[in-house]
Amino acid sequence: MTNVTTLPCPLCRAPLDVRLARGRKSGKAFIMLVCPADGRHFRGFITDRQYVSGVLAKAEGPVGKG
Ligand SMILES: [Zn+2]
Repeated sequence: MTNVTTLPCPLCRAPLDVRLARGRKSGKAFIMLVCPADGRHFRGFITDRQYVSGVLAKAEGPVGKG
């Protein structure tokens, strides 16, 4: 089983935030990985449908709005 919540920032080694988001235009869910210390360190987007649905199934819960 892979743990998606403990990927370290390549710059400061802080564990990256894994955020679930949804495209405004496409409506497709995707995952954003961002450094919690500074978003400029690392920001990644994963749109692979299979991966996203797997994470969604695991991390079902309230997603912050705004
Ligand atoms: Zn960082």
